[in-house]
Formats: sequence, structure tokens, C-alpha cells
Amino acid sequence: MADEITPLIAGNWKMNGTSASLAEVARLAGLLAAGERPRCMVVICPPATLLAPLTAIAAPGGIVTGGQDCHPLPNGAHTGDIAAPMLVDAGAQFVILGHSERRADHAESSELVRSKAMAAIGSGLTPIICVGETEAERRAGDAERIVTSQLEASVPDDWGGRGIVVAYEPVWAIGTGLTPTAADIAQMHATIRQRLVDRFGAGGAGVPILYGGSLKPTNARDILAIENVNGGLVGGASLLANDFHAIISAV
Ligand code: PEP
Repeated sequence: MADEITPLIAGNWKMNGTSASLAEVARLAGLLAAGERPRCMVVICPPATLLAPLTAIAAPGGIVTGGQDCHPLPNGAHTGDIAAPMLVDAGAQFVILGHSERRADHAESSELVRSKAMAAIGSGLTPIICVGETEAERRAGDAERIVTSQLEASVPDDWGGRGIVVAYEPVWAIGTGLTPTAADIAQMHATIRQRLVDRFGAGGAGVPILYGGSLKPTNARDILAIENVNGGLVGGASLLANDFHAIISAV
């Protein structure tokens, strides 16, 4: 991993977890306290219902929290949505945006993701902007074109002096147990890095690029060692303290 970028391991709990799940976070905090100091920033993005209580449990152990989505507007008549300032109010420092499940289930375009990212940045959150191709797109040899076009359109021009994070998550690797080859991950991360540098110069060189998609204790060490992989976005394996801790320890 690049020396100058602080690695980041972020857990995406998706639509999983109730107050009973807070015990796993307490267990994770205990594992982290008992072992070596983690060589990465640790983030958990739970459902919005758990943000405040989870932040309270996680913060003393140095674990920070994030939301899984936010609306482009700060408030208003948008039933069921959540605004960036509300996430901040509940203790979040990050927010996942443009996850493939939101792009698919809620028809989110990259332009919408960009407006959400601007709202997040404006509220003091660091957006984790997700990009990734489907299996059909990869088979058609279109993976790089799809990912770079998502990247161009989803990442805002102005970060207001704050940071952003990009997560490369091949859709076909999410929750399937499948992962790209190390060469394919290296190539896509290098392409993303080059695009960010072309567009943002030194700022682009410092953006953490996470890999996401079936990252597990068994493959974390190899994947996290790939050039331009600055950490991971972890779904299923972030729900269990032991598995998530093993991935954190692999950094
Ligand atoms: C995700 O959905 O962000 C993800 C990476 O999921 P999983 O680790 O379960 O593949």
C-alpha cells in the first residue's frame, strides 16, 4: 500500500443489525485494544438506526462510523431519506455513496451520486464513492470504460479542502465469494489512480482507493498488498468481530 496514504478498512453493514449487534462492536473494540495498534483507520457504516449508539460504543476504541447514503439536500419533504447533517449529528464521519446496490435498487445515477457527495462534503463528511462494473460489462471487455465513466461523473470537482475516498467494487464480486485476479485489481486501481491524478494532481495521488467485493480473512493479506489498494470496503465479513478484526490485522 502507498506509504503516504493512511489505509482504511470500512465495514458496510447494509440492511443488517439491531441493537443486539452492538455487542459485536464491543467485542471488536476489545480485540483491537488487546492486540497491536491497527495500521489503518477503522470505520463501521451501520444502518442509520444504529449510528448514534454504535458511535458511542466504537469511539473510545478509535473506531469511527459512517452512513450508507445521504440525500443531496440538507432537509425537507423527502420521506424515508436521510440528510448529511443528520448523519453528522448521529456521530458519522464518513458516508458510503453510489454503492452498486443503491445504483441498482434505487436507479441512482452517477450525477446523483456526485450531488450527494457534494452535500456530504459540505456537511463535513468524507464520502466513500463506489464504482464498479457488472459481470456482463467485464465479459464484454467494458470494465475500465464503465468504471472510469462512473468515476468521472460521481466524483465532484470541488472537495472543499476535505478528503474523499474511492471504492472499487466489482458488482459480480459483492457477496458472491468471487474476486478478480490480483492482476485485474492492480490494473483497475492503477487506472483509477491515474484518472484521479490527471484530474486532481497531488490531491488525486492522496485519495485512498479501497477494494471491495468478498474481502475475507482468507484473502485480505494478498489483496491489501496490491499496489494502489489502500484498504477495503467489507460487507459480510464486517458483521462478525473476529472476521473484521482479522481483515484489519491483515493491513
Ligand atoms: C459491499 O457490499 O460493499 C461488499 C464489499 O460486500 P461483501 O464484502 O459482502 O462482498
